[in-house]
Amino acid sequence: MSRSVLETCFEMSRPGRRGADVPACEAPPCPYAIPQGMRDETPLALPELSEVDVVRHYTALSRRNHGVDNGFYPLGSCTMKYNPRMNEQAASYFAKLHPLLSQKDMQGALHLCYDLQNALCEITGMDAMTLQPAAGAHGELTGLLLIRAYFQKRGELAQRRKMLVPDSAHGTNPASAAMAGFTVAVVPSAPDGGVDLEALRAMAGPDTAGLMLTNPNTLGLFERNIEAVAEIVHGAGGLLYYDGANLNAVMGISRPGDMGFDVVHLNLHKSFSTPHGGGGPGAGPVGCKQALAPFLPRPTVTYEGGRYTLKMDLPDTIGKVRAFYGNFGVCVKAMAYLLKLGCDGLRQASETAVLNANYVMARLKHAYRVDFDRPCMHEFVLSTANIHGLTATDVAKGIIDHGMHPPTVYFPLIVHEAMMIEPTETEGKETLDAFCDAMLALAAEAREDVAALSRYPVTTPCGRPDQTLAARKPKVRD
Ligand SMILES: *Cc1c(COP(=O)(O)O)cnc(C)c1O
Repeated sequence: MSRSVLETCFEMSRPGRRGADVPACEAPPCPYAIPQGMRDETPLALPELSEVDVVRHYTALSRRNHGVDNGFYPLGSCTMKYNPRMNEQAASYFAKLHPLLSQKDMQGALHLCYDLQNALCEITGMDAMTLQPAAGAHGELTGLLLIRAYFQKRGELAQRRKMLVPDSAHGTNPASAAMAGFTVAVVPSAPDGGVDLEALRAMAGPDTAGLMLTNPNTLGLFERNIEAVAEIVHGAGGLLYYDGANLNAVMGISRPGDMGFDVVHLNLHKSFSTPHGGGGPGAGPVGCKQALAPFLPRPTVTYEGGRYTLKMDLPDTIGKVRAFYGNFGVCVKAMAYLLKLGCDGLRQASETAVLNANYVMARLKHAYRVDFDRPCMHEFVLSTANIHGLTATDVAKGIIDHGMHPPTVYFPLIVHEAMMIEPTETEGKETLDAFCDAMLALAAEAREDVAALSRYPVTTPCGRPDQTLAARKPKVRD
């Protein structure tokens, strides 16, 4: 195992080497020549390479990128499941559709949006749905703007400014609440990893706009007191917001609407099979109960008089949140996924996701520390702090040398040296075992000589960059 360094295409460049011949220009010279003094006549500094040099260079670069197509990717809370190619093909059928086509000519696409809205309403137990938001955090903002509009309409907005957010929440939750104009109040967790009911009772009151909850939460634990939580928040006149990015654990099993939630967002790019990571297009549909439906972004897709229609006439709408109707291609992939799996298949996907996570947890919980001794849902959180001097970074870097993507680290914040592991349902037992073996080998090595782990990774071009600089000021070229 040694680091291999890739030459940049500029370093590979040799004067005069060519990958393509450009035919001589046959067009007449341009009569409007750029004046001499305004031309930059310095030759462009382009690399000179043969075609095969270019092909090898980009192929080598692509191999440097870890994706679910080349290895295990247990990045907790991100649901990096395998996405069937069939969904991509389905999306490609619609690729030439222009969003400004007349509604008469896009009945098929509107039909698909309408069916997807209804399917997602059924899955979440909501009454209405918008497909517009572009991602999870965007869905949160949209959902919170619905809550805001609802209280404004009732004349209660001036009084209800406080959004309750548990300390285990995804970082986007408090950020979205602040962006929507609420003040954030943090609700502590109880020793069992759920919401501390006493604290919630003390915090909820006439100034409460609502509570944002992830269930199962980011510890991978189902909130067992959800009915009591809903009663407290509704009793104080607030609304319940469900962060449904983690729906992968409960699809076809339990529904946020039945738990008492009023608004929910989903991450189609997590649970409903769109490749993500690296900023590809996602979708964060938002569903709500009837009382909030008048405030949904416009247009909504309706079926009236035998035709699918983009309904613009919504007097109380919060307005548009995304160009056109959202990331339609992602919606097509979600619909293809749902149609292929059906109700039973969807439930089976969730059950397998939960089974896989529990299997990995059972194999690892004696080597590392797991704070909450109860079955997990689709993911679980362990701490490396039980081994003296061992950090989550050391284990994550060690996992890279085993050809796998590390789990999420240092999140949630309430667990010291946290590693958040989400295997997903698309992995077989052999892959799970290979990961567990690697994790156990690293724990054993750390017990022998914890300092030895600080040399990992040894197989990557770059070992341990300054994480802040790498994120804020990435050096992506020479
Ligand atoms: C991923 C995630 C989000 C944010 O979703 P994006 O699409 O990345 O904006 C919000 N909440 C939870 C619990 C998540 O896992």
